[in-house]
Amino acid sequence: AERPYIVGNWKMNGTRAMLSEARAIDRAAQRYMKAEVAVAPPYTLIHAVHREAEQIGVGAQDCHAGAEGPHTGDIAASMLADAGAKFVILGHSERRGDHGESNELINAKIDSALEAGLRIILCCGESLDIRDAGKAEDFVLDQLRASLPHIKDPIERLTIAYEPIWAIGTGRTATIEDIKAMHAAIRKLLDETYGEEASSKVRILYGGSVKPENAGEILSTPEVGGALVGGASLSAESFLGIVVAAS
Ligand code: 13P
Repeated sequence: AERPYIVGNWKMNGTRAMLSEARAIDRAAQRYMKAEVAVAPPYTLIHAVHREAEQIGVGAQDCHAGAEGPHTGDIAASMLADAGAKFVILGHSERRGDHGESNELINAKIDSALEAGLRIILCCGESLDIRDAGKAEDFVLDQLRASLPHIKDPIERLTIAYEPIWAIGTGRTATIEDIKAMHAAIRKLLDETYGEEASSKVRILYGGSVKPENAGEILSTPEVGGALVGGASLSAESFLGIVVAAS
């Protein structure tokens, strides 16, 4: 099987005091080469974490869709690459919720990030209302149809993260059956969109209350290509517990 991809999303957490955690993650990750490990710190720490990191990948949590220009407070994908980022998380439910990001905007951000040479982690996921109404699969596939990149070439730079909103930061994880079914539906869409060979290069991560205690079961599910980890990525000890479970 492919190498599992374990990504820490620090969200709006972390000052320079967190650099020691990044260093600890990096040093330990060298011993667990079976997993590919990465962290997405806030913008202010990207360059500093990049300088600490020998083994792990460093990325960002968002970017602007434009290449440069008069957008006060925004960051372009090329600036992230210049700071040492190798990937960017796009379409996280917190960006969609806090900043009203649409699938179309996310699609434009993906194009600009690919243009800048970055890898993409494209997030999707439904709310509890949508799941309870039995519409989770339709909703997630619609999100992806409207945001997936149209181009075929850099397909190996694309990763999908399925993160049910009701499982984020709640301590509630989706059942293995739900994860399997959703990941299989996403895979089918990728097969149809890009062809099976190209699709096979795209990993589908699960995110939502992944912890050392549940990571083994989730990551041993064949449909799951890794994990996007929020809260448990903020300490080296718990994040490495997940990396070990993946190894
Ligand atoms: P938690 O791991 O804190 O539930 O967050 C998941 C997430 O949103 C990662 O992007």
